[in-house]
Amino acid sequence: NKTILLKQRPVGKPTASEFEFTQSDEELVINDGELLLETSYVSVDPYLRGRMSDAKSYVPPFEVGKPISSGIVAKVIASKHSTFQVGDYLSGMLEWKTQQVSNGEGLTKVNKDLAPLSAYLGILGMTGLTAFLGLQEIGKPKAGETIVISGAAGAVGSVVGQIAKILGLHVIGIAGSDEKIEMLTSDFGFDAGINYNETKDMNAAIKAAAPNGVDIYFDNVGGPISDAVLFNINRFARMIICGAISVYNSTEIPTGVSVQPFLVKNSALMQGFIVSNYADKFPEAMKQLSIWLSEGKLTYTETVVEGFDNIPSAFLDLFDGKNKGKMIVKI
Ligand code: NDP
Repeated sequence: NKTILLKQRPVGKPTASEFEFTQSDEELVINDGELLLETSYVSVDPYLRGRMSDAKSYVPPFEVGKPISSGIVAKVIASKHSTFQVGDYLSGMLEWKTQQVSNGEGLTKVNKDLAPLSAYLGILGMTGLTAFLGLQEIGKPKAGETIVISGAAGAVGSVVGQIAKILGLHVIGIAGSDEKIEMLTSDFGFDAGINYNETKDMNAAIKAAAPNGVDIYFDNVGGPISDAVLFNINRFARMIICGAISVYNSTEIPTGVSVQPFLVKNSALMQGFIVSNYADKFPEAMKQLSIWLSEGKLTYTETVVEGFDNIPSAFLDLFDGKNKGKMIVKI
Protein backbone atom coordinates (compact mmCIF):
# COMPACT_ATOMS: atom_id res chain seq x y z
CA ASN A 1 0.00 0.00 0.00
CA LYS A 2 1.45 3.35 -1.09
CA THR A 3 0.77 6.83 0.30
CA ILE A 4 1.78 10.31 -0.86
CA LEU A 5 2.52 12.81 1.92
CA LEU A 6 3.18 16.53 1.90
CA LYS A 7 6.91 16.65 2.62
CA GLN A 8 7.30 20.41 2.85
CA ARG A 9 5.34 23.53 1.94
CA PRO A 10 6.24 24.97 -1.46
CA VAL A 11 7.56 28.49 -1.91
CA GLY A 12 6.57 29.72 -5.37
CA LYS A 13 5.95 27.06 -7.99
CA PRO A 14 5.64 23.60 -6.39
CA THR A 15 8.07 20.85 -7.41
CA ALA A 16 8.33 17.07 -7.01
CA SER A 17 10.42 17.55 -3.86
CA GLU A 18 7.31 18.73 -1.98
CA PHE A 19 5.91 15.17 -2.11
CA GLU A 20 7.02 12.05 -0.29
CA PHE A 21 6.07 8.46 -1.08
CA THR A 22 5.78 5.87 1.67
CA GLN A 23 5.01 2.17 1.39
CA SER A 24 3.66 -0.35 3.89
CA ASP A 25 3.20 -4.11 3.66
CA GLU A 26 0.86 -4.18 6.64
CA GLU A 27 -2.54 -5.63 5.77
CA LEU A 28 -5.38 -3.16 6.29
CA VAL A 29 -8.19 -4.47 8.51
CA ILE A 30 -11.70 -3.09 8.82
CA ASN A 31 -14.01 -2.94 11.82
CA ASP A 32 -17.80 -2.84 11.91
CA GLY A 33 -19.12 0.15 9.94
CA GLU A 34 -15.93 0.42 7.86
CA LEU A 35 -14.89 -0.15 4.25
CA LEU A 36 -11.67 -1.09 2.53
CA LEU A 37 -11.26 1.03 -0.59
CA GLU A 38 -8.98 0.67 -3.58
CA THR A 39 -8.27 3.90 -5.45
CA SER A 40 -9.34 3.90 -9.10
CA TYR A 41 -9.16 7.56 -10.25
CA VAL A 42 -7.60 10.61 -8.60
CA SER A 43 -8.49 14.21 -9.38
CA VAL A 44 -5.62 16.69 -9.35
CA ASP A 45 -6.76 20.30 -9.12
CA PRO A 46 -5.19 23.76 -9.03
CA TYR A 47 -6.83 24.55 -5.64
CA LEU A 48 -4.62 21.90 -3.99
CA ARG A 49 -1.77 24.41 -4.35
CA GLY A 50 -3.60 26.60 -1.82
CA ARG A 51 -3.91 23.72 0.62
CA MET A 52 -0.16 23.05 0.40
CA SER A 53 0.41 26.51 1.92
CA ASP A 54 -0.51 27.40 5.46
CA ALA A 55 -2.16 30.71 4.57
CA LYS A 56 -5.72 31.11 5.84
CA SER A 57 -8.29 30.01 3.24
CA TYR A 58 -11.72 28.47 2.87
CA VAL A 59 -10.34 24.96 3.42
CA PRO A 60 -7.75 23.99 6.04
CA PRO A 61 -4.18 23.45 4.83
CA PHE A 62 -2.65 20.00 4.42
CA GLU A 63 -0.36 19.10 7.29
CA VAL A 64 3.32 18.50 6.65
CA GLY A 65 4.07 14.78 7.02
CA LYS A 66 0.43 13.80 6.51
CA PRO A 67 -1.28 12.36 3.40
CA ILE A 68 -2.60 14.70 0.73
CA SER A 69 -6.24 14.30 -0.22
CA SER A 70 -8.40 15.22 -3.20
CA GLY A 71 -11.46 14.02 -5.08
CA ILE A 72 -11.14 10.27 -5.66
CA VAL A 73 -13.23 7.46 -7.13
CA ALA A 74 -12.51 4.20 -5.30
CA LYS A 75 -13.77 0.62 -5.39
CA VAL A 76 -15.06 -1.12 -2.28
CA ILE A 77 -12.96 -4.28 -1.88
CA ALA A 78 -14.15 -5.26 1.63
CA SER A 79 -17.14 -4.00 3.59
CA LYS A 80 -18.55 -4.14 7.10
CA HIS A 81 -20.72 -1.13 6.27
CA SER A 82 -24.50 -1.16 6.10
CA THR A 83 -24.87 0.98 2.94
CA PHE A 84 -21.90 0.16 0.72
CA GLN A 85 -21.13 -3.29 -0.69
CA VAL A 86 -18.08 -4.94 -2.22
CA GLY A 87 -17.86 -3.92 -5.88
CA ASP A 88 -19.48 -0.51 -5.37
CA TYR A 89 -17.62 2.54 -6.66
CA LEU A 90 -17.65 5.57 -4.36
CA SER A 91 -16.58 9.14 -4.88
CA GLY A 92 -15.53 11.77 -2.36
CA MET A 93 -12.55 13.36 -0.67
CA LEU A 94 -10.02 10.62 0.08
CA GLU A 95 -6.31 10.38 0.74
CA TRP A 96 -3.62 9.79 -1.87
CA LYS A 97 -3.26 6.09 -1.02
CA THR A 98 -3.58 3.00 -3.19
CA GLN A 99 -5.83 1.48 -0.48
CA GLN A 100 -7.46 2.98 2.60
CA VAL A 101 -10.00 2.30 5.32
CA SER A 102 -13.04 4.59 5.51
CA ASN A 103 -16.22 4.83 7.54
CA GLY A 104 -18.04 5.95 4.38
CA GLU A 105 -18.65 9.49 5.63
CA GLY A 106 -18.88 12.02 2.80
CA LEU A 107 -18.75 9.31 0.12
CA THR A 108 -21.42 8.77 -2.51
CA LYS A 109 -22.02 5.77 -4.70
CA VAL A 110 -21.50 6.44 -8.40
CA ASN A 111 -23.13 4.61 -11.27
CA LYS A 112 -20.56 3.37 -13.77
CA ASP A 113 -23.31 2.42 -16.22
CA LEU A 114 -24.49 6.05 -16.42
CA ALA A 115 -21.10 7.63 -17.15
CA PRO A 116 -17.44 6.57 -17.10
CA LEU A 117 -16.07 6.58 -13.53
CA SER A 118 -13.67 9.47 -14.20
CA ALA A 119 -16.60 11.70 -15.19
CA TYR A 120 -17.60 11.85 -11.51
CA LEU A 121 -14.40 13.82 -10.88
CA GLY A 122 -15.07 16.21 -13.76
CA ILE A 123 -18.22 16.96 -15.68
CA LEU A 124 -20.43 15.17 -13.10
CA GLY A 125 -18.22 16.20 -10.19
CA MET A 126 -16.71 19.29 -8.65
CA THR A 127 -15.57 21.01 -11.84
CA GLY A 128 -18.89 20.48 -13.66
CA LEU A 129 -20.79 21.84 -10.67
CA THR A 130 -18.43 24.82 -10.50
CA ALA A 131 -19.02 25.64 -14.15
CA PHE A 132 -22.79 25.32 -13.92
CA LEU A 133 -23.34 27.08 -10.60
CA GLY A 134 -20.75 29.84 -11.08
CA LEU A 135 -22.28 30.74 -14.41
CA GLN A 136 -25.91 30.53 -13.27
CA GLU A 137 -25.71 31.97 -9.78
CA ILE A 138 -23.36 34.89 -10.37
CA GLY A 139 -23.29 35.19 -14.17
CA LYS A 140 -27.07 35.17 -14.60
CA PRO A 141 -26.64 34.57 -18.34
CA LYS A 142 -29.14 35.84 -20.90
CA ALA A 143 -29.36 34.77 -24.54
CA GLY A 144 -27.59 37.16 -26.87
CA GLU A 145 -25.04 38.31 -24.30
CA THR A 146 -21.28 37.94 -24.69
CA ILE A 147 -19.20 35.89 -22.27
CA VAL A 148 -15.43 35.69 -22.00
CA ILE A 149 -13.91 32.69 -20.20
CA SER A 150 -10.27 32.46 -19.09
CA GLY A 151 -8.70 29.06 -18.54
CA ALA A 152 -11.22 28.09 -21.20
CA ALA A 153 -9.67 24.79 -22.27
CA GLY A 154 -9.54 23.38 -18.74
CA ALA A 155 -12.00 21.31 -16.75
CA VAL A 156 -14.16 24.21 -15.56
CA GLY A 157 -13.73 26.58 -18.52
CA SER A 158 -14.57 24.08 -21.25
CA VAL A 159 -17.87 23.30 -19.53
CA VAL A 160 -18.75 26.94 -18.84
CA GLY A 161 -18.39 27.71 -22.56
CA GLN A 162 -20.60 24.84 -23.66
CA ILE A 163 -23.32 25.74 -21.16
CA ALA A 164 -23.18 29.34 -22.31
CA LYS A 165 -23.64 28.15 -25.91
CA ILE A 166 -26.64 26.03 -24.88
CA LEU A 167 -28.10 29.20 -23.31
CA GLY A 168 -27.58 31.22 -26.49
CA LEU A 169 -24.60 33.40 -25.62
CA HIS A 170 -21.70 34.56 -27.77
CA VAL A 171 -18.76 32.66 -26.28
CA ILE A 172 -15.09 33.65 -26.33
CA GLY A 173 -12.44 31.45 -24.70
CA ILE A 174 -8.91 32.40 -23.65
CA ALA A 175 -6.32 29.60 -23.43
CA GLY A 176 -2.59 28.98 -23.78
CA SER A 177 -2.06 27.27 -27.15
CA ASP A 178 -3.37 27.24 -30.71
CA GLU A 179 -4.22 23.56 -30.29
CA LYS A 180 -6.44 24.41 -27.34
CA ILE A 181 -8.13 27.24 -29.22
CA GLU A 182 -8.80 24.88 -32.12
CA MET A 183 -10.37 22.40 -29.67
CA LEU A 184 -12.60 25.13 -28.18
CA THR A 185 -14.00 26.24 -31.51
CA SER A 186 -14.13 22.84 -33.27
CA ASP A 187 -15.11 20.44 -30.48
CA PHE A 188 -16.87 22.64 -27.96
CA GLY A 189 -18.65 25.15 -30.19
CA PHE A 190 -17.02 28.33 -28.85
CA ASP A 191 -17.48 31.27 -31.23
CA ALA A 192 -13.90 32.52 -30.88
CA GLY A 193 -10.71 31.90 -28.98
CA ILE A 194 -7.60 33.87 -28.02
CA ASN A 195 -4.22 32.25 -27.39
CA TYR A 196 -2.81 34.50 -24.69
CA ASN A 197 0.71 33.18 -25.21
CA GLU A 198 0.74 34.45 -28.79
CA THR A 199 -1.15 37.71 -28.25
CA LYS A 200 0.76 40.89 -27.46
CA ASP A 201 -2.23 43.16 -26.92
CA MET A 202 -4.89 41.19 -25.05
CA ASN A 203 -7.10 44.25 -24.64
CA ALA A 204 -7.27 44.72 -28.43
CA ALA A 205 -7.76 40.99 -29.06
CA ILE A 206 -10.72 40.87 -26.66
CA LYS A 207 -12.18 44.01 -28.23
CA ALA A 208 -11.95 42.40 -31.67
CA ALA A 209 -13.52 39.12 -30.54
CA ALA A 210 -16.27 40.86 -28.55
CA PRO A 211 -17.38 43.81 -30.69
CA ASN A 212 -20.46 44.31 -28.49
CA GLY A 213 -18.42 44.27 -25.29
CA VAL A 214 -18.30 41.71 -22.48
CA ASP A 215 -21.41 41.06 -20.38
CA ILE A 216 -20.05 38.14 -18.37
CA TYR A 217 -16.48 37.25 -17.48
CA PHE A 218 -15.84 33.78 -16.01
CA ASP A 219 -12.38 34.13 -14.51
CA ASN A 220 -10.24 31.09 -13.82
CA VAL A 221 -6.80 32.68 -14.05
CA GLY A 222 -6.62 36.28 -12.70
CA GLY A 223 -3.55 38.41 -13.44
CA PRO A 224 -2.94 40.40 -16.65
CA ILE A 225 -5.45 38.36 -18.69
CA SER A 226 -8.24 39.46 -16.36
CA ASP A 227 -6.95 43.05 -16.32
CA ALA A 228 -7.37 43.11 -20.12
CA VAL A 229 -10.95 41.85 -19.90
CA LEU A 230 -11.84 44.71 -17.53
CA PHE A 231 -11.19 47.26 -20.28
CA ASN A 232 -13.97 45.65 -22.33
CA ILE A 233 -16.82 45.13 -19.88
CA ASN A 234 -20.31 46.46 -20.55
CA ARG A 235 -22.71 48.20 -18.20
CA PHE A 236 -24.09 45.74 -15.62
CA ALA A 237 -21.40 43.19 -16.46
CA ARG A 238 -21.05 40.25 -14.08
CA MET A 239 -17.62 38.82 -13.25
CA ILE A 240 -17.36 35.40 -11.63
CA ILE A 241 -14.03 35.16 -9.83
CA CYS A 242 -13.68 31.39 -9.74
CA GLY A 243 -9.92 30.99 -9.70
CA ALA A 244 -6.63 32.80 -10.15
CA ILE A 245 -4.13 30.14 -11.21
CA SER A 246 -1.76 32.72 -12.73
CA VAL A 247 -1.01 34.04 -9.24
CA TYR A 248 -1.28 30.86 -7.12
CA ASN A 249 2.51 30.50 -7.13
CA SER A 250 3.30 34.21 -6.61
CA THR A 251 5.56 34.98 -3.69
CA GLU A 252 4.58 38.67 -3.74
CA ILE A 253 1.16 40.27 -3.64
CA PRO A 254 0.14 40.58 -7.31
CA THR A 255 -0.50 44.04 -8.72
CA GLY A 256 -2.55 45.13 -11.71
CA VAL A 257 -4.99 47.79 -12.83
CA SER A 258 -7.35 49.10 -10.14
CA VAL A 259 -10.71 47.48 -10.70
CA GLN A 260 -12.82 50.06 -8.85
CA PRO A 261 -13.23 52.65 -11.67
CA PHE A 262 -14.33 49.90 -14.07
CA LEU A 263 -16.89 48.62 -11.60
CA VAL A 264 -18.27 52.08 -10.80
CA LYS A 265 -18.41 53.29 -14.40
CA ASN A 266 -20.22 50.14 -15.56
CA SER A 267 -22.33 49.35 -12.48
CA ALA A 268 -20.57 46.01 -12.75
CA LEU A 269 -20.54 43.10 -10.32
CA MET A 270 -17.41 41.17 -9.40
CA GLN A 271 -17.95 38.29 -7.00
CA GLY A 272 -15.77 35.51 -5.65
CA PHE A 273 -17.21 32.04 -6.12
CA ILE A 274 -16.62 28.91 -4.04
CA VAL A 275 -18.59 25.90 -5.22
CA SER A 276 -19.07 24.41 -1.73
CA ASN A 277 -21.20 27.44 -0.76
CA TYR A 278 -23.85 26.17 -3.18
CA ALA A 279 -24.19 22.59 -1.88
CA ASP A 280 -27.98 22.91 -1.66
CA LYS A 281 -28.05 23.39 -5.44
CA PHE A 282 -25.86 20.35 -6.30
CA PRO A 283 -28.73 17.90 -6.97
CA GLU A 284 -30.46 20.31 -9.34
CA ALA A 285 -27.18 21.12 -11.13
CA MET A 286 -26.19 17.44 -11.41
CA LYS A 287 -29.59 16.64 -12.89
CA GLN A 288 -29.26 19.31 -15.57
CA LEU A 289 -25.66 18.38 -16.41
CA SER A 290 -26.67 14.70 -16.76
CA ILE A 291 -29.58 15.59 -19.04
CA TRP A 292 -27.40 17.73 -21.31
CA LEU A 293 -24.75 14.97 -21.36
CA SER A 294 -27.26 12.29 -22.32
CA GLU A 295 -28.77 14.57 -24.98
CA GLY A 296 -25.29 15.11 -26.43
CA LYS A 297 -25.53 18.88 -25.89
CA LEU A 298 -22.62 18.76 -23.49
CA THR A 299 -19.38 16.88 -24.00
CA TYR A 300 -16.03 16.79 -22.24
CA THR A 301 -12.42 15.89 -22.61
CA GLU A 302 -9.91 14.54 -20.14
CA THR A 303 -6.15 14.27 -19.91
CA VAL A 304 -5.59 10.91 -18.27
CA VAL A 305 -2.21 10.18 -16.70
CA GLU A 306 -1.62 6.57 -15.68
CA GLY A 307 -0.11 5.33 -12.42
CA PHE A 308 -0.22 6.21 -8.74
CA ASP A 309 3.42 7.36 -8.82
CA ASN A 310 2.51 10.02 -11.38
CA ILE A 311 -0.05 11.86 -9.23
CA PRO A 312 2.40 14.62 -8.20
CA SER A 313 3.67 15.22 -11.75
CA ALA A 314 0.09 15.35 -13.10
CA PHE A 315 -0.68 18.00 -10.47
CA LEU A 316 2.46 19.99 -11.35
CA ASP A 317 1.60 19.82 -15.06
CA LEU A 318 -1.56 21.87 -14.42
CA PHE A 319 0.66 24.91 -13.89
CA ASP A 320 2.28 24.37 -17.28
CA GLY A 321 -1.02 23.96 -19.09
CA LYS A 322 -0.28 20.35 -20.08
CA ASN A 323 -3.92 19.31 -19.66
CA LYS A 324 -6.89 19.66 -21.98
CA GLY A 325 -10.12 19.41 -20.04
CA LYS A 326 -10.03 17.59 -16.71
CA MET A 327 -6.67 16.29 -15.48
CA ILE A 328 -7.21 12.80 -14.07
CA VAL A 329 -4.86 10.11 -12.78
CA LYS A 330 -5.91 6.52 -13.44
CA ILE A 331 -4.48 4.10 -10.93
P1 NDP B 1 -7.82 23.51 -15.44
O1 NDP B 1 -8.28 22.23 -16.00
O2 NDP B 1 -8.29 24.78 -16.08
O3 NDP B 1 -6.23 23.46 -15.39
C1 NDP B 1 -5.48 24.57 -15.15
C2 NDP B 1 -5.20 25.38 -16.43
O4 NDP B 1 -4.80 26.69 -16.06
C3 NDP B 1 -4.05 24.86 -17.27
O5 NDP B 1 -4.44 23.86 -18.16
C4 NDP B 1 -3.55 26.12 -17.98
O6 NDP B 1 -4.14 26.24 -19.28
C5 NDP B 1 -4.06 27.27 -17.11
N1 NDP B 1 -2.93 28.03 -16.56
C6 NDP B 1 -1.90 27.55 -15.84
N2 NDP B 1 -1.07 28.56 -15.51
C7 NDP B 1 -1.61 29.69 -16.05
C8 NDP B 1 -1.20 31.07 -16.08
N3 NDP B 1 -0.07 31.49 -15.48
N4 NDP B 1 -1.98 31.96 -16.73
C9 NDP B 1 -3.12 31.56 -17.35
N5 NDP B 1 -3.54 30.27 -17.37
C10 NDP B 1 -2.79 29.36 -16.73
O7 NDP B 1 -8.21 23.60 -13.91
P2 NDP B 1 -9.70 23.60 -13.32
O8 NDP B 1 -10.67 23.70 -14.42
O9 NDP B 1 -9.81 22.51 -12.35
O10 NDP B 1 -9.72 24.95 -12.50
C11 NDP B 1 -9.75 26.20 -13.18
C12 NDP B 1 -9.73 27.32 -12.16
O11 NDP B 1 -10.91 27.27 -11.37
C13 NDP B 1 -8.56 27.24 -11.19
O12 NDP B 1 -8.10 28.54 -10.92
C14 NDP B 1 -9.18 26.63 -9.97
O13 NDP B 1 -8.50 26.95 -8.81
C15 NDP B 1 -10.57 27.20 -10.01
N6 NDP B 1 -11.60 26.41 -9.34
C16 NDP B 1 -12.35 27.05 -8.42
C17 NDP B 1 -13.38 26.41 -7.80
C18 NDP B 1 -14.20 27.19 -6.85
O14 NDP B 1 -15.10 26.64 -6.20
N7 NDP B 1 -13.93 28.45 -6.73
C19 NDP B 1 -13.67 25.00 -8.05
C20 NDP B 1 -12.86 24.41 -9.11
C21 NDP B 1 -11.85 25.11 -9.70
P3 NDP B 1 -3.49 27.16 -20.43
O15 NDP B 1 -2.75 26.24 -21.34
O16 NDP B 1 -4.69 27.78 -21.07
O17 NDP B 1 -2.58 28.14 -19.76
